[in-house]
Amino acid sequence: MNRDLCVYAGSFDPVTTGHLDIIRRGAAIFPRMIVAILCNPSKKGAFSMEERLSMLKKSCADLPNVSFDSFDGLLADYLRKKEAGIILRGLRNFSDFESEFQMAQLNRQLNPDIETFFLMASPEHVFVSSSAVREIAMFGGDISPYVPAHIAEEVARKLRPIK
Ligand code: ADP
Repeated sequence: MNRDLCVYAGSFDPVTTGHLDIIRRGAAIFPRMIVAILCNPSKKGAFSMEERLSMLKKSCADLPNVSFDSFDGLLADYLRKKEAGIILRGLRNFSDFESEFQMAQLNRQLNPDIETFFLMASPEHVFVSSSAVREIAMFGGDISPYVPAHIAEEVARKLRPIK
């Protein structure tokens, strides 16, 4: 297991400024990072896997130690396959803490070589989530403060309300 390689997994439907903050800060700590999009066949997202991947790549173009991938199945198995030793997660509030605490314990049982590493959300991103971005955009609100500048137009266009 490689402690130099961390995996930051999520839905990224779409990537937000909060995700990007965790990616940037994590990439400054770990020599290498894989940002991995979880494919959930039972949950059709607002954006296709290709769109999510392309938006992530555009948002992180200046981060040479970050690569991108998608996976299905258990995160613990994905880390084993990639020989990665660290799961990177972000924590916004107590409700994140509850679910993240449970997930970290389960992942430890599934793969005892894994450590889960948490970064606290920066104060300006505490209220940012992909679901809030989708809701604001669908009602025609301004999402530009909550998504990376490079993709704001694309996200707004795709989710624009039907008039
Ligand atoms: P999922 O939809 O699978 O919960 P997300 O893509 O929402 O995954 O989140 C992936 C990870 O990023 C989680 O650890 C989550 O807590 C974290 N995260 C999401 N939004 C923020 C934010 N605004 N600030 C910090 N961390 C965040």
